[in-house]
Amino acid sequence: MLYSQPSQSLTDALRSAGFQGEIETDHALRAAMSTDNSVYQITPDLIAAPRDGQDVVRALAVLETPAFADVALTARGGGTGTNGQSLNRGLILDMRRHMNRVLEINATEGWAEVEPGVVLDALNDALRPHGWFFAPETSTATRCTIGGMVSTDASGKGSRIYGKTSDNVLGLEIARPQGLLSSFAPAPDWATPMLAAAEAAARQGRAAFIDAAPRLNRRFTGYDLERACPETGGFEWWRLFLGAEGTLGPISRIRVKLRRIEPEKRLIVAGFASFRDALAAATPLLADNPTAIEVMDEWVQRIAQDAGILDRLPESLRPEGPVAYVFIEFNGHDAAEMQARVTTCLERLRSLPGQIALHQARDLAEIRELWAIRSAGVGLLGKVDGPARPIAFVEDCVVPPENLPAFVDDFLRVLKDNGLGFGIYGHVDVGCLHIRPALNIDETTDRAKLVAVSDTVFALTRKHGGIFWGEHGKGVRGAYLPEWIGPRAYAALQSVKRAFDPAERFNPGKLVTLDRPLMGIATTPFRPFNAKPGDALEKAFRCNGNAQCLSYQAAVPMCPSFKATGDLRHSPKGRADALRAWKVARDAGRPAPERDLMAALDTCLGCKACASSCPVQVDIPWMRAAFYADHYSRNARPLSDRLVLAAERLSPLAVTLAPLLRPAWPLARRLAGRALKSVDLPVHMAHPVAAAHRVRLADLDRPQPRNAVLLWQDWFTALFDAEVAQDAIMGFSALGYHPLLVAMRPAGKAAQNMGAEAAFRRMAGQLAEALQKGAATGAPMVGLDPAFVMLLRQDYPTAGLTPARVMLAQEFLAAEIASGRRFPQVSVQAKTAPRILSHCTEQTALPNAGALWAQVFAAIGLKAAPAASGCCGMAGLFGHQERHQTMSRKLYDMSWRDHVEGKAPVLATGFSCRCQAERFSGKALRHPLGFIADTLRG
Ligand SMILES: Cc1cc2nc3c(=O)[nH]c(=O)nc-3n(C[C@H](O)[C@H](O)[C@H](O)COP(=O)(O)OP(=O)(O)OC[C@H]3O[C@@H](n4cnc5c(N)ncnc54)[C@H](O)[C@@H]3O)c2cc1C
Ligand code: SF4
Ligand code: SF4
Repeated sequence: MLYSQPSQSLTDALRSAGFQGEIETDHALRAAMSTDNSVYQITPDLIAAPRDGQDVVRALAVLETPAFADVALTARGGGTGTNGQSLNRGLILDMRRHMNRVLEINATEGWAEVEPGVVLDALNDALRPHGWFFAPETSTATRCTIGGMVSTDASGKGSRIYGKTSDNVLGLEIARPQGLLSSFAPAPDWATPMLAAAEAAARQGRAAFIDAAPRLNRRFTGYDLERACPETGGFEWWRLFLGAEGTLGPISRIRVKLRRIEPEKRLIVAGFASFRDALAAATPLLADNPTAIEVMDEWVQRIAQDAGILDRLPESLRPEGPVAYVFIEFNGHDAAEMQARVTTCLERLRSLPGQIALHQARDLAEIRELWAIRSAGVGLLGKVDGPARPIAFVEDCVVPPENLPAFVDDFLRVLKDNGLGFGIYGHVDVGCLHIRPALNIDETTDRAKLVAVSDTVFALTRKHGGIFWGEHGKGVRGAYLPEWIGPRAYAALQSVKRAFDPAERFNPGKLVTLDRPLMGIATTPFRPFNAKPGDALEKAFRCNGNAQCLSYQAAVPMCPSFKATGDLRHSPKGRADALRAWKVARDAGRPAPERDLMAALDTCLGCKACASSCPVQVDIPWMRAAFYADHYSRNARPLSDRLVLAAERLSPLAVTLAPLLRPAWPLARRLAGRALKSVDLPVHMAHPVAAAHRVRLADLDRPQPRNAVLLWQDWFTALFDAEVAQDAIMGFSALGYHPLLVAMRPAGKAAQNMGAEAAFRRMAGQLAEALQKGAATGAPMVGLDPAFVMLLRQDYPTAGLTPARVMLAQEFLAAEIASGRRFPQVSVQAKTAPRILSHCTEQTALPNAGALWAQVFAAIGLKAAPAASGCCGMAGLFGHQERHQTMSRKLYDMSWRDHVEGKAPVLATGFSCRCQAERFSGKALRHPLGFIADTLRG
């Protein structure tokens, strides 16, 4: 079967037809588009990112020409499918990159019209000020698109009350080669035969379809012949597209039904002695009509506990031993009525067998935190060590809630018989459980288990009156559809397919096929699952495509380069996919193109958000360094890299010679700018701090003064950030310490970033030795720049080094407060509480970094507000490099400008961030320690 066509001729044809968006064959992008959250991998030939519906029409019209008759076309949204829904050969339409506008909000009638690529949370952000929301709440709300939700008929928490996506859609517009077809306008002539054929098929198969589909809240959808032909008459063709996973063609516009935001909210969390007790609670609790009942089993509880996540739970929810948790949420407009239901529910819970812990949350922030704890716990399922990991293939079965305990018993027996580990969570109010058995998909035996377990669980759902695909869509698991729905109904689905897609071009091989085979759960190519043990690119293989790194939110640190571009290849997921593809090709001795991979890696700011916020801590900068090491062992390094490496290596000498070099710096700066192709390099070289506050490495052997605090800094701050050293010395002095700035030893950050492994190890080894000496003095050690501290904390251990502990300033001071130290008090309160903006590396590695500063400020009688922000766009040299200017400025505008140019004073912990604020807003920001010093001195 021919899916692929010579990509160049198709690209040319699309351009000639006036296609406005990008058309790309970039290897890195194709690798990024070859996976989702499933275990499958299909590399597309071409990616096109349409600008609007007309662009999609242009693409379809080109594909109608005989030269491209066999080219497959698949729309892609957020790519968060768990079953290979958006993976295919041929042409992928990236709907998320540009077609992501909220087109209209009708706050009077309660509906909105959107382009399909708008992200769910972004839509709800736009609706919130109007008092409305779009109800289906997926766990992937930060990155899944409305088009993807409509096409998989997504749902989630609260679906018993609010329904699935298909219950909240009012109509659609689809793109066809002849033009756009909207359900809100009369059908044009060209659409009449197509709709007539679809209607005839739907009417003919409707009864068989109804017979096959059980009557459940999480009803079966996709080619919904029942609702397309309502009892009331007429033909609602667009309903066939809901849940059809793009197999009937691309959707270009969606009208969604909105719901009023309910102001009252409560959350009850109950602990049970066993998962079975927790499951059995669902049916009685339904009597109190909660919005959602969610469960989490002891396996998830244990891994969340080991990771320290459960420490954030209230004491009453942490009894000894294993606990299965039930989360029960109530929403309403009438506080008294809702509280009455909550009270009854609490009483009911106390009487249920196995109930061992109970907590009620009324405060919105606490409710959010409790849900966040649950999601974080569930997210850890993807982080399991070892070659076998939980995977999605039987993970959203639905049975009537009353059959759930018996179904789970049968299910667990299957897993036990196959010797599989697993974790369970899910929506028990609608009988939907997420169970991901752990498999090593590289192993033939485990692939056989995937098929055996899948077949058995499919049979079990039928035995218990349920559905195999309750929430996450079908994708490759649509292979079971013909058997499930029966030959009569399936024949009708085929006739619908024939009406809209006679050439079987749209997402071919999925759900319904005509002459082509259906993709199979074991015949679709699996993605490589594990690297060789100890391989530097191991994490690239462990990326499971859950797409948590694809956030659009300005205030979220991960991932700046994706947020600035909306382009998957510039995300942690995209880079992990591209690195993995490169590695696999290279190990197999196939051509492993590097140019596109280099370009995708070059836009990584090295902010390290992915090293801490990604569930598998994918750490792109570390893997990039490994790739560079390999690449530059075969190729010459660019001159600019060599200059930076030399500057880092020679930086101790430069610090010593600074008095001589300083007058020449303006000229050297211009030359360096040219040689490094960089702009806005620091204007001044730093002056040394007073001798009384300096200590040489050799002098660390001597006794240190009382209250000494050793301050450490890296080469770039030592050479150029005069203010931070002064601020730290003044701040610590004002707080009663004796700060001493230790002679600088470069940490090897530039060398590490560039994959100059030997240089990094040499510098890191020397610094680690110096730190050991410092630690031996017994004085606490503080690092002045968060990026430097995080390098010691994250990269040194990965390199096998165990440096002595260096704290962030706020970590040290907060620990001092906790141990009872008292600080002087301010006599004058600042007019406006300053905002503290943390460096993004620090924020992601230490989420309470800002809160710790607030504690320190409070201890001297000052108010301070930690602010949520993303990356400032500077990230060391990145923001200085000419080729990154557009992205750097965009990120600043997105995440920092409003803070910096607002009324409140802003304090910034990172040198890069302070430089960025100064060059784009002309404001010299202080370090928090400088502000403390000034305020304490009045
Ligand atoms: C960790 C995790 C948790 C999840 N939790 C939930 C959950 O709580 N509830 C839930 O329902 N699902 C959940 N999912 C599954 C997934 O998030 C949903 O199916 C989501 O709706 C997919 O949206 P998307 O934008 O990522 O679509 P994609 O994965 O990009 O695409 C899904 C399907 O829609 C088609 N499609 C996309 N856009 C269009 C278009 N414009 N026109 C035609 N077809 C189109 C694609 O071809 C594909 O077949 C979860 C997934 C993960 C990884
Ligand atoms: S990089 Fe991390 S967050 Fe992104 S898709 Fe991979 S595992 Fe998920
Ligand atoms: S280091 Fe930052 S910019 Fe680079 S991939 Fe990770 S999150 Fe994105």
